[in-house]
Amino acid sequence: MSIDIKIGGMGEYSGFNYVSVLEIAKENNIELIDAKLVGGIMGIATHKCIYLDIDKIIDTIQVGGFDWDKGLFILYHEIAHYKRIKKIGDNEYLKRLTCDSVDDYCDYVINEEIFADRWATRMFYKFNNMIIPKNQTQGLWDKHIRKKYEEHIKWDHQLIRNNVEAYDKVISNYVIDVR
Ligand SMILES: [Zn+2]
Repeated sequence: MSIDIKIGGMGEYSGFNYVSVLEIAKENNIELIDAKLVGGIMGIATHKCIYLDIDKIIDTIQVGGFDWDKGLFILYHEIAHYKRIKKIGDNEYLKRLTCDSVDDYCDYVINEEIFADRWATRMFYKFNNMIIPKNQTQGLWDKHIRKKYEEHIKWDHQLIRNNVEAYDKVISNYVIDVR
């Protein structure tokens, strides 16, 4: 089943405006790829495309991990990352990911996460006429949540040395399979 059909179906089933994700992707020439991603990762935006683990998102909703609004929020969130990469440019993005100190790296990544959550919050309101509850965002302004998040991302520090091959290699570690 194509990713468009899956996302469209999520909208029909839930009543949320999932189709808006397909519209934004089309307008901005964003390639959405349905992929099996490692661990709890639901989506990854890269300089080339956005990987989305649609089956994991649906499974998580079905077992009560989160709700349909959060599922849609995640899709907007990844689009925000992608648009940001394109706005600053691939080279600048790689440069910004290349930090000498682990603290600078974490600060950069987390600021991008907060930005993506904010943009997703705006899109959620725009297309669904509803405010997404704050507790559905990543909550990275909270010190404890931030600390926990840093533990996950700090390992990638220094892997990306302003080098696109190294960056692609890091991404490929997270993508198990493309559906
Ligand atoms: Zn993110």
